[in-house]
Amino acid sequence: MADDGGRSARVTVVGGGVVGLTCALQLARAGHTVEVRAADAVADTTSAVAAALWFPYRAFPAESVLRWGARTLTVLTDLADDEATGVRLLPGTVVHRTPEPDLWWGEAVVGHRPATPDELPAGAPAGTRCTLPVVDMRRYLTWLLAACRSAGVEVVTTQVDRLSAVPGDVLVVAAGLRSGPLLDDDTGVPVQGQVVRLADPGLPGWLLDEDNPAGLTYVVPRGDDVVVGGTAVAGATGREPDPEVERAILERACSLVPELRGAPVLSRAVGLRPARPTVRLDRTLVDGRPVIACYGHGGSGVTLSWGCADDVVALV
Ligand SMILES: Cc1cc2nc3c(=O)[nH]c(=O)nc-3n(C[C@H](O)[C@H](O)[C@H](O)COP(=O)(O)OP(=O)(O)OC[C@H]3O[C@@H](n4cnc5c(N)ncnc54)[C@H](O)[C@@H]3O)c2cc1C
Repeated sequence: MADDGGRSARVTVVGGGVVGLTCALQLARAGHTVEVRAADAVADTTSAVAAALWFPYRAFPAESVLRWGARTLTVLTDLADDEATGVRLLPGTVVHRTPEPDLWWGEAVVGHRPATPDELPAGAPAGTRCTLPVVDMRRYLTWLLAACRSAGVEVVTTQVDRLSAVPGDVLVVAAGLRSGPLLDDDTGVPVQGQVVRLADPGLPGWLLDEDNPAGLTYVVPRGDDVVVGGTAVAGATGREPDPEVERAILERACSLVPELRGAPVLSRAVGLRPARPTVRLDRTLVDGRPVIACYGHGGSGVTLSWGCADDVVALV
């Protein structure tokens, strides 16, 4: 510990995806000396595959998710003022397929309202309109990494096999799906998601249709491309895009957003969402040293990142 009454510590964050980097940035801003140890380059993380729309999906418990999500929504909204962050505020529609949709997330979203019939895609019975942050993860992760470095965070590319081998007064484990093995926790489950990125035909907004009878469907324009998804297959671990799955994704998306028909495919990806019965955010002792766990964000790592980072700083 530094000689400042114990308020400043040497903290090592294991993991350099959106969760680890956001924690590292906030810890450095709080005055700690921070090092990140990450096995992969940011471009090779699950975070780089995210669409990424601010929206809670496959993360629990609802009460904490709402609190972390609301905080993140405020920060991302502020970041949208700076083009370099890759964050934009964009209107869009959440499609509802049930008579009484559960808008539990709406508490965090100012100004959401029922969609008018002309705002709904073909075949959608109802929906909610709102403006939310859309995060271009290529630019955002680059910005986040640069923000970490300018706050004094050292980022080291290395695989951690045992926490005992990691230096620091306090450790933060934010290694996504591979956090569990470091902490003897086997409750993590990959939820595989496939996306295809098309040239953006100039779509004015995003679309989210979670309960589409043909399968999860979302369309998230980012200016130069549009992320089209998706799938959510619990337990699947493959990382290769499946052409048949892609064909079905495109069919669903084009029937809802016909402007996408014929848009050239720019790239495709598969990512494994780090799901868990609940997000783990707690403090334990490992070999007598404090370890803060922050993982299991499922399909909401971007959506919860700033709120969770605040809690991690408080626990450190
Ligand atoms: C198709 C798809 C779409 C998505 N869309 C959205 C969306 O619209 N909005 C949203 O909020 N979320 C979305 N998500 C979810 C989001 O991507 C994840 O919740 C988020 O990326 C998790 O971030 P993370 O930092 O915990 O994990 P990761 O991004 O997986 O990062 C883990 C980090 O830990 C490192 N690491 C792992 N093991 C070790 C080790 N042993 N030693 C050292 N380093 C290690 C890795 O190298 C990496 O740096 C989507 C996910 C997918 C797959």
